[in-house]
Amino acid sequence: MSEKFCIFCGGKPEKKNREHVIPQWLIRMTGREKKDVFTHFPEDAKHMAFMNFTFPACEKCNSDYSALEIAAKAVMEKVLSGGKITGTEASVLMDWFDKVRIGLWLSWMYYDPKLKSAVQPHFFINSRVGTCDRMLNIRKLNLAADENKGILFMGTDNTWFNYCPSAFTMVINDYYFMNASTNNLVSRNLGFPIMRKPEIFDQDTGRFCADIEMGNQRIISPVIKGFVPHPESVTFYQPMYHEIASAKDDSPSWQYITERSYDSDNGVGGVFFQKGNANNTRYLQPQSLANLKMKATVWPDLESDILKFQNVIGDRTFLQTRETLLGMSLNKKYLAALQQAKQK
Ligand SMILES: [Zn+2]
Repeated sequence: MSEKFCIFCGGKPEKKNREHVIPQWLIRMTGREKKDVFTHFPEDAKHMAFMNFTFPACEKCNSDYSALEIAAKAVMEKVLSGGKITGTEASVLMDWFDKVRIGLWLSWMYYDPKLKSAVQPHFFINSRVGTCDRMLNIRKLNLAADENKGILFMGTDNTWFNYCPSAFTMVINDYYFMNASTNNLVSRNLGFPIMRKPEIFDQDTGRFCADIEMGNQRIISPVIKGFVPHPESVTFYQPMYHEIASAKDDSPSWQYITERSYDSDNGVGGVFFQKGNANNTRYLQPQSLANLKMKATVWPDLESDILKFQNVIGDRTFLQTRETLLGMSLNKKYLAALQQAKQK
């Protein structure tokens, strides 16, 4: 890994700039201005104040993300006050979690000499925000007034995350967020198409081909096999199918998908919402509201919670294969041709 690269684009940082891995608005919102970054930092790395936890970035890349930060802050304020958010706002929040999750992953490498030499990142924030299926599970925690401010991460300091940064947990004040994003995480059980058996056919360009399996146009519970949300929690799911969108046609299965997408031309699925653990997952129109009011519950076993979840998605070796392919160019025309050939 080269000495310094931009956290967003992976290139040599132009017009040197620093990106706060944990944005300053969140540091203020959680009262962490004078605190150290977290206890789970690799032992041989130095501790530092949140405000100093930064990463090189291009000036332009950094400013390209300021709109997302402003939007995410507004959504986070609604979430932390137990209000309502729209489907579009949930999608913004999941973009932001993609950014933070990948930012933490790259930071670990940057600050930990051992990891630096062991892991070669194939993608950076730019190539990983809004790219893959994702989910966000939110709980309110029952904390005493004097301890309900803070920030904590879980599941980011293990080998699995080092190689496959697809799921982590973040506690922000008295709210718990478990976030995951990887291919085929929710598509199949939300009735969306998935890719199967990806194979690289051009090593130089990283182009690969895959079979497209169309969905069955209905929601199957649980949306993520092996994951049962807490009864007092809310969960957002969003399928993504950028690589397959060019194969879109007038068939009923595609009609189901486009009617439940926020941008079907670019393969951005709509947000689905589940309250508690009941079989009630439903599609949220972009402006429909999801009510985040829920009972506060006791502090969960954060570590085993996220490790269990990482096992759930880590079991799917196919997903890990896809994860390593990410960030490489895709031949959309080839996929479309493949799809057409299959229909004949
Ligand atoms: Zn950059």
